[in-house]
Amino acid sequence: MKILIINSGSSSIKYQLMEMPSQQIRCTGIVERIGYSDTIFKYRTDFVELLETEPIKNHKVGLQKIADYLLNPKKGVIKDSKEIKIVAHRVVHGGNTFSRTARITSEVKNKIQQLCALAPLHNPANLEGILMAEHIFSSAKQVAVFDTAFHQTISTKAKKYAIPNEFFEKGIQVYGFHGISHDYVSKKAIAFLKQSESKIITLHLGNGCSVTAVQNGQSIDHSMGFTPSNGLIMGTRSGDVDHGLIFYLVNSLGYSLEDVNTLLLKKSGMLGLTGHGDLRDIQREAEKGNKDCQLAMQMNAYRIKKYIGSYVAAMNGLDALVFTAGIGENSNVLRAMVCEGMEYMGIRLDKSKNRNKSDGVWEINTSDSSVKILVIPTNEELEIARQAHALLNGSHN
Ligand code: AMP
Repeated sequence: MKILIINSGSSSIKYQLMEMPSQQIRCTGIVERIGYSDTIFKYRTDFVELLETEPIKNHKVGLQKIADYLLNPKKGVIKDSKEIKIVAHRVVHGGNTFSRTARITSEVKNKIQQLCALAPLHNPANLEGILMAEHIFSSAKQVAVFDTAFHQTISTKAKKYAIPNEFFEKGIQVYGFHGISHDYVSKKAIAFLKQSESKIITLHLGNGCSVTAVQNGQSIDHSMGFTPSNGLIMGTRSGDVDHGLIFYLVNSLGYSLEDVNTLLLKKSGMLGLTGHGDLRDIQREAEKGNKDCQLAMQMNAYRIKKYIGSYVAAMNGLDALVFTAGIGENSNVLRAMVCEGMEYMGIRLDKSKNRNKSDGVWEINTSDSSVKILVIPTNEELEIARQAHALLNGSHN
């Protein structure tokens, strides 16, 4: 069965065509910089790899172009749009409505629309992707897989903010994000540990960064909150700050609210500290002696350590620490900085294992470490395909 996985971002569409249950990837690609004059269109199959730069004005045009390529007599991988049986969409915000993957109906679309206010950069793009896919792949079943769903198990004491109760009733609470990734890697870690009860901390460190405490397979706490701006230091987002600074910026330094939003989400984090948003550049500069870059790396690792400490306390123990996503999977330097000085908690890194890359689940702790330290490549597309396939084949859990 062919499943088309669509991940629409604010200015991009990632896509993959996968055979399920074999998990064979037939096609993969991305449309980036939608709305600009130099939109990048990437498309790859076993026999074609191409990159085009041309203006693509909106998601509708982008998705149509993807469909045209999939159906192209020479470069395509399907002959008829009816071959696609399921289109599975990543939807960022499912609010409190969706605690699991859902078949898309008009009611589901209305809910996703209502939740646009909570994820203004993401949900409108997700909804647009759904509407276009319904039009182009009209015979396929459409499924929504929510980034927030995995965190629906977080208890009230951890998800409620200490502000008057009426706001909780209005839906102001911790929702959590990157749930598809945390779900995927925590399941892999549980399979690796081979124990029925487990305490795991998953570190999703990419452009966006978040930590989840996963106890017996369920998310019990998470570093992002009402929006994906809380928690760790990210590429361009500050993560945790004292909210009092927002009032100081506005009332004393004359910033508008919009300026503050842009400052904290787009100009802060590693970019604000170093002038670079990509950790590869920062590491290179730090090695050359750049003090800002060295300090930013230390701050980043220190923030992660503090979250690890608090989640070990919340779970009363730890069986495995999992690193994933672009930085987690690739930066042995940051992994080493995070694990340094954590022997008290039973976290002991094997420095040579940490340096050598490997495939699949990859253990980098010493033999006497009571906590497993694992690097697990995330695969959100596979998790989306699995959940959509399970939902429509009756094995959804
Ligand atoms: P993601 O959002 O998961 O795609 O992660 C993207 C980020 O991973 C990039 O912005 C880089 O900061 C980081 N990254 C990717 N490869 C490496 C690497 N080899 N070393 C350090 N950081 C990396």
